[in-house]
Amino acid sequence: MIVVCPNCLKKNNLPTDVPISQAQCGQCDKDLWSSTPIHLNDDNFMLFVPNTEVPVFVDFWAEWCGPCKAMAPTFERLAAQYKTIQFAKVNTEEAPRLSQFFQIRSIPSLILFKQTTQLGRVAGAMNAQQLQSWLQQHGVQA
Ligand SMILES: [Zn+2]
Repeated sequence: MIVVCPNCLKKNNLPTDVPISQAQCGQCDKDLWSSTPIHLNDDNFMLFVPNTEVPVFVDFWAEWCGPCKAMAPTFERLAAQYKTIQFAKVNTEEAPRLSQFFQIRSIPSLILFKQTTQLGRVAGAMNAQQLQSWLQQHGVQA
């Protein structure tokens, strides 16, 4: 499957029997999966999410948003546990075009992407259990 490197944004063609969490980029040698959320913005989002066949779970947040900050440690912890998808964060203040494009009206907003498809979308902070059951409802297992 096609996996875009979160470091150099080069496309890698990964054999389906190789877990993304154990693969390195052919271009830059860095890991193709990050156990911590990667940071996407107006410049790199469209090069990464639509081109990689790995589902990407994105937290749209802002510095001034209390519930966003409260949820951040939980989101980080779960990012390391879900090794078949990539967790990512978008700072809405640094990504005005993306926020407008995806019509982010309240934050935190969470969107599970599979390339250009939104597999699911939810607004409002969630605890670990709620996040896990939401992901399960959308076909993602830890
Ligand atoms: Zn790379």
